[in-house]
Amino acid sequence: MKIQEKYSLKNLNTFGVDVSAKYFAEVKDVDDLKYAIEFAKINHFEILFLGGGSNILFTEDFGGLVIKLNLKGISEEFLNENEVLVTAKAGENWHEFVQFCLSENYGGLENLSLIPGNVGTSPMQNIGAYGTEIKDTFVKCKVLNIQTLEIEEFNKEECGFGYRDSIFKGEVRGKCVILEVTFKLSTKNHQIKTEYGAIKNELDKLGIENPTIQDVSRAVISIRQSKLPDPQILGNAGSFFKNPTIPLQQFTEVQNSYPQMPNYPNGEMVKIPAGWLIEQCGWKGKQVGNVASHELQALVIVNKTGNATGKEIYDFSTMIIESVKDKFGIGLEREVNIV
Ligand SMILES: Cc1cc2nc3c(=O)[nH]c(=O)nc-3n(C[C@H](O)[C@H](O)[C@H](O)COP(=O)(O)OP(=O)(O)OC[C@H]3O[C@@H](n4cnc5c(N)ncnc54)[C@H](O)[C@@H]3O)c2cc1C
Repeated sequence: MKIQEKYSLKNLNTFGVDVSAKYFAEVKDVDDLKYAIEFAKINHFEILFLGGGSNILFTEDFGGLVIKLNLKGISEEFLNENEVLVTAKAGENWHEFVQFCLSENYGGLENLSLIPGNVGTSPMQNIGAYGTEIKDTFVKCKVLNIQTLEIEEFNKEECGFGYRDSIFKGEVRGKCVILEVTFKLSTKNHQIKTEYGAIKNELDKLGIENPTIQDVSRAVISIRQSKLPDPQILGNAGSFFKNPTIPLQQFTEVQNSYPQMPNYPNGEMVKIPAGWLIEQCGWKGKQVGNVASHELQALVIVNKTGNATGKEIYDFSTMIIESVKDKFGIGLEREVNIV
């Protein structure tokens, strides 16, 4: 494994921001990874782990060591005639992993088709889409403790999964690196989830009444391709903000002024679609310099000209946060990791 100097990260982040790492290493196994971590420790360099670069915004060059995780491999262990444990190493591409599971007729991940990024990052923010989150099938993950260089295991409860959240974004952030993730999937009698979003409509269009897990995946892919910009063509990191959850009482007050506000009550809290709030503030499709809010989905910030700096994208997101706060009194939180 080579540690390279002044390495461009432009092709390694889906925003396509032109920044570089002072040092860069691509690791293919745990020994490489330990070596790279030791190198950083000896030289007192900050470490940044990189998967597919689809949930990160670099606002400046990175002055330490970027470690790109390229550990590969998938293994299976049948539990009984209905269930299988499937383990994938951190560097496996998420969508290719989902497609592998579908090719083996393993059910549970089909609604998460076409989410960019790698398997090793999926627990970080408990990736989710179309009524499913990885916590629904997650069993455990192996991590390397950066301090001790020992391998440890986290089960589902220990991961503290929440909406786009986990212990890896909080308490143990920067203390460990995820090496592999294990999911429990069905081998037959799959639970088909079509009630969320436009999946049912999409299947109706195709004349499919009794969808298979493969049909659900195709429907999800088709919907995503029609709604979300392809980062290969237009730099972006998907949803830039989380959907805010506010107390019921605050919601009732705001709703008096905006009765048409979409909302998803959950006990004493109410979730509001961030995209709607941003759109109401006039941001949908709006461009400032090299950056814009996407014309089909206000929640997605795009590198419109391909020449945006991370700082410009960050400042654009701050303008959105401020105008949503001014108009609705609701704070937006960035989903994307800022570096
Ligand atoms: C077009 C588009 C659509 C998207 N749609 C969705 C969606 O529907 N649902 C959803 O949840 N997300 C979505 N995302 C966001 C993104 O795909 C996910 O967050 C994904 O899990 C990021 O994976 P990555 O490997 O690219 O992470 P990276 O961007 O490489 O890393 C993200 C963060 O995790 C850290 N990290 C990376 N790997 C590890 C590891 N192995 N151990 C510890 N830390 C690590 C990094 O340091 C960084 O802080 C979308 C993004 C895009 C571009």
